[in-house]
Amino acid sequence: MLGDFIGNARMVGWLQRAIATEQVSHAYLFTGPDQIGKRTLALAFAQAIQCEVRPEGSGAACGECAACRKVAHGNHPDVLRIALPKDRQHYSIEQVREIIEDVALKPTEGRKRIIIIPDFEQMTIQGIQASLKVLEEPPPTAMILLTCASADLLLPTIISRCQQVALVPVALQELAEALMTRHEIDAGQARELATLSGGCPGWAISALDDPDALAERRQLLRDLAALTRASRAERIAQAAKLAANKETAQRTIELWLPWWRDVALTAYGAPDIIRHADDRAGIEAQAKAWGAAAAGRFVRSLVRALEQLDQNANPRLVFEVLLQDLPGL
Ligand SMILES: [Zn+2]
Repeated sequence: MLGDFIGNARMVGWLQRAIATEQVSHAYLFTGPDQIGKRTLALAFAQAIQCEVRPEGSGAACGECAACRKVAHGNHPDVLRIALPKDRQHYSIEQVREIIEDVALKPTEGRKRIIIIPDFEQMTIQGIQASLKVLEEPPPTAMILLTCASADLLLPTIISRCQQVALVPVALQELAEALMTRHEIDAGQARELATLSGGCPGWAISALDDPDALAERRQLLRDLAALTRASRAERIAQAAKLAANKETAQRTIELWLPWWRDVALTAYGAPDIIRHADDRAGIEAQAKAWGAAAAGRFVRSLVRALEQLDQNANPRLVFEVLLQDLPGL
């Protein structure tokens, strides 16, 4: 439900107010990093709209009526969730045609006919052209909810037709507390999960049942500390390993970035606002060894590397340059 969504309270409040004041728009675009909760929020939004017993002037779903339960179980006839075809990178043009036909139908039992299209960046140009008209002028009873990692990946003509719901990583403390309240874990575990998740609740929750994912991230952070002592040749060898593909490369940088930001913050004399407080000693040692200027420079290198990966640069080359920028050579 909307009220249970972890983090991004301002955005959630904005969506609730739109429902309460009956000013819901016909198209929304949910953006943000992997596992931040784009689909979860889109679905909770759809649930609040369809809830049968929601009082006038309220933006919250009851969670218990037939409509709420159907949305939660994925079988509400007026909340359609589109998925990429198995083993396919892109939506097929047939799917787009079906969506367009579906949107034109009147709701059968809900207040609106809602179509959720995740990963809209996987739409082909053909598909986008076909869907533009629907996005611009959908029937009054229809709503389209799109998700996408970043609005930068979409054409301006798409973005301008949607209300944007930009989700950002959840603050460490807030995420740790939410994990502790909802799952039976202690404060230390909750804090580590929140830290390693990079502020993405979806990752933290799935890692609760996936010790391998947790171990992999711990190892990546240890690798990082060790790399400052590695030679140029060792770094090139590591680059090949860490950047086997775009996803691994991105995940590694997203994990390293907050850690190195902590090193820079500590070197600049602001150690109380660091994210990885559990590794304070390791961070202080790095801050002392390289100083504020070098740590800050490497943080900028990490940000640049992420941008290059977004623009589809070769992950291995990006990492080779990145690891040469890492202090210690
Ligand atoms: Zn309800």
